[in-house]
Amino acid sequence: MNNQVFWNPVLETLPRETLQQLQLKKFKRIFEWAFTHSKFHRSIYDAAGITPDDIKSLEDIKRIPKVEKSMMRGIQCKDPFPYGDALCVPLEEVSTFRQTSGTTGQPVYQADTWQDWEWWSECWSYVLWSQGYRAKDRVFIPFGYNIFVAFWAGHYAAEKLGCEVVPGGVLDTQSRILKIQELRTTAMMATPTYILRMADVAKNKMGIDPASLSINRITCAGEPGAGIPSTKKRMEDAWGAKVFDHSGATEIGAWSFECESQPCGMHVNEAMFLVEIEDLDTGEIIEEPGKKGKMIITALDRMAQPCIRFDSKDVIEWDSEPCSCGRSFRLIKGGVIGRSDDITKVKGVLLSPGAIEEVVRSINGLGDEFEIVVDKQGDVDRIKLKVELLPGTPRTSIENKLKDRLRLKTNLGYLIEYYDYGSLPRYEVKSKRFKDLRKKSMSEKECRL
Ligand SMILES: [Zn+2]
Repeated sequence: MNNQVFWNPVLETLPRETLQQLQLKKFKRIFEWAFTHSKFHRSIYDAAGITPDDIKSLEDIKRIPKVEKSMMRGIQCKDPFPYGDALCVPLEEVSTFRQTSGTTGQPVYQADTWQDWEWWSECWSYVLWSQGYRAKDRVFIPFGYNIFVAFWAGHYAAEKLGCEVVPGGVLDTQSRILKIQELRTTAMMATPTYILRMADVAKNKMGIDPASLSINRITCAGEPGAGIPSTKKRMEDAWGAKVFDHSGATEIGAWSFECESQPCGMHVNEAMFLVEIEDLDTGEIIEEPGKKGKMIITALDRMAQPCIRFDSKDVIEWDSEPCSCGRSFRLIKGGVIGRSDDITKVKGVLLSPGAIEEVVRSINGLGDEFEIVVDKQGDVDRIKLKVELLPGTPRTSIENKLKDRLRLKTNLGYLIEYYDYGSLPRYEVKSKRFKDLRKKSMSEKECRL
């Protein structure tokens, strides 16, 4: 099995038409399941006048109402406590509680049964296998597992593949680096922010070159960094390892992965998920490649608390090219480009924090950390970009390059502030580098929901 290219050679190479037939069949099953077992789902489908008999093609799915995170917040803490009536199984069958990280408001609770938990590890097995994890790997997970889903399912999937897993939870960064060195671990899973942070601590605090350690592959999740070429390059250079992107979410599952061919994008696991991309302005479903929109996603096999046409707010676009690895699962170009909440207009121009990150990380002499603050000066929008100069880098060698690249990439001007290396906040898990102060009242309102 270790020589096998695909985790599931049948499903990952299905011809498009057969794959779509499978998706339709699975969609009808999960829709009927939720329609029958969840009062929450039944009420929104009844209100839209739609029943399982109405779903005869993938086209019909577009008529089904979407589910927003706020709707899930609205039902939780009601019966059956604490999940509310989206729960499709008796409470005694629930085996695990998780919650969303709540970066944009009140967390959403998520119930999983043992069957769902097996499903989680299966989704993650596609991810790890496609990135070259095999039984010989010793995998280090520098992360404290808790009520959030990260990196529980990655842990169990690695075990399922036969890897040896080292849970590096209750350790500080320096101890984790020493453990990697001591055990010669070969692979690692973490957020891009933490991968860079660990490299920085190893190099600058401990005098250890991370590239001299035995890590040869890294799976990134939780943030878009591994899909941003300059951030990925920084991580690969620092660790002397291949870095792969992955995206998943508590209320969805592990829906995508970058394979070993590193196509500058991620495959959607279309055997287990149905992804639709919705135009941000018109609400139409985008079929063609090259047009950005927000992801509406269905987990085709998740049973306890189903995820059906969930409005993920992740901004993605289909790639026009198939991947050289041979998988028939479609690619999304550049991974998750951002959140529709974060992609905002400044001076009438669409601004994506990911585009700024790509520029900052592409410039030698700038540190890994940065911060973007959008506010108003009078009636005019202003973007402040705070960056750090690495020791020994004169500001004059950076200034014009940074300004020019930013303008070219984003069509906007910036007020750039330079700081000494080590001055900006460091993050252990996910970063909070983008602040839109114009939205302050909105985010306060969101927090109360
Ligand atoms: Zn591929």
